[in-house]
This record gives sequence, structure tokens and C-alpha cells, in this order.
Amino acid sequence: MRLIFLGAPGVGKGTQADLIAAKFGRPKISTGDILREAVRNKTPMGVQAKACMDQGKLVPDSVVVGIVRDKLAEPVCARGFLLDGFPRTVPQAEELTAMLKTRGLQLDRVINVSVPREDIVRRLTGRRSCPKCQAVFHVEFTPPKRAGFCDRCGDELMQRSDDTRETVENRLAVYEEQTAPLIAYYRQRGILSDVDGTGTVEQVQQRVAELLSANGLA
Ligand code: AMP
Repeated sequence: MRLIFLGAPGVGKGTQADLIAAKFGRPKISTGDILREAVRNKTPMGVQAKACMDQGKLVPDSVVVGIVRDKLAEPVCARGFLLDGFPRTVPQAEELTAMLKTRGLQLDRVINVSVPREDIVRRLTGRRSCPKCQAVFHVEFTPPKRAGFCDRCGDELMQRSDDTRETVENRLAVYEEQTAPLIAYYRQRGILSDVDGTGTVEQVQQRVAELLSANGLA
């Protein structure tokens, strides 16, 4: 199972990828999560990436390609993986194809999740996450039991610095310009499936499960 979850920021692709990863016991590789951890740990990569991330811009292709290359080399990825937030540009997609090809592998499916723009802005600006265990909540749609604190580990929830209104607008513009072309790119290669990302997490998960099974992947 080698899958990509594609879509604009805030469509819920990370949440869906987490559920599929847990269900099938495959690792999820989220370049955004790895970069945020590097920022928290103030590693040289984190320091370099922070400025781009805070403005809603993409970090350089070479940085994220390096992250994915290292991850894919880990034994845990041998039986498959789910990519969340990578690739985000056509050059990244080409690097990924080349990386897989050297191992005699190819992608099975690209799951393109979409949600109307106004819903995305609402979803992202209300999103709160736990810096310790990465659990994600929403002030309106999936509030934690105790406001401001993680249900899972009790840590104080935070708003991602790039989930503010202005940065969300930048991220959506960057998505349209640099990432949306990947939809046609993968469609042309015959491996893209569209999923309606509206509705509850469970409803969307059901749609994803159906498309995986329709493609012989579950
Ligand atoms: P995400 O959590 O996927 O929304 O990513 C958060 C931020 O990390 C993005 O806005 C980018 O600044 C950076 N980032 C994550 N993945 C990539 C990628 N594949 N290419 C470039 N930048 C990325």
C-alpha cells in the first residue's frame, strides 16, 4: 500500500491518513509534522524551515525531498506507507517517482480530498492541536472535553502558528499555484481518485475505504 493523500490545507487529509495508517498498520509520513518537530527542536533544518512555514510558503523542495528519502529508507516503510502533505510540487512528485523506481516500486493511488474553500478557512482557523501527542481538535466541530486541553494526554492545546487567518489565505494561494497542478499530473497517470471531504470524519473515512477496496487495496 503506497498512497498519497493530496489536497489543500485543511481538507482533513492528515486525519484520514492517520485512520488508514492505523487500520492497515502502515506508517504515515507527514512532512509538515516532521518539519514542525524540527522547528520545535531548533535543528538547522527547523531553523531554515520556520520562516517559510510561518508565512505559509513552501520550504525548498530539496529539504522535503531529503526528509522523504530518509523516511522511505526505514525498514518500517518496506510494506508500504501513506504520504500526507508530500509531494506538493511537480518537481517533488518527480523526485518521488525516481526514488521509488530505484527500489522497483511505484505508487498505488493518489487520494485527492476536496472541500469548499469557505469550509477550509473555518476548519483551519478553529483547529487546535496538542504539541505533545499531536491530537487534533476543533473549537467548534470536535471540541476537547475540557476547553483548551488535550483529551488524550492533558497537555495544553495550541493553535498552529500558520493557522491564523492571514497565513491560511497564503497557504491556500500557494496550494492553488504550486500543488493543485498535481491533480492533473496524477490523473493523467491514471492513479488519482477524488474523494469528497465534506461531512464527518467517519463519512469521509467510509468513502476512502470504499475507494481503496474498489482499487484492490483493502
Ligand atoms: P502541513 O502540515 O502539511 O500543512 O505543512 C505545514 C507547512 O510545512 C507548509 O505550509 C509548508 O511550509 C511546509 N511543508 C510541509 N510539507 C511540505 C512540502 N511537501 N513541500 C514544501 N513545504 C512543505
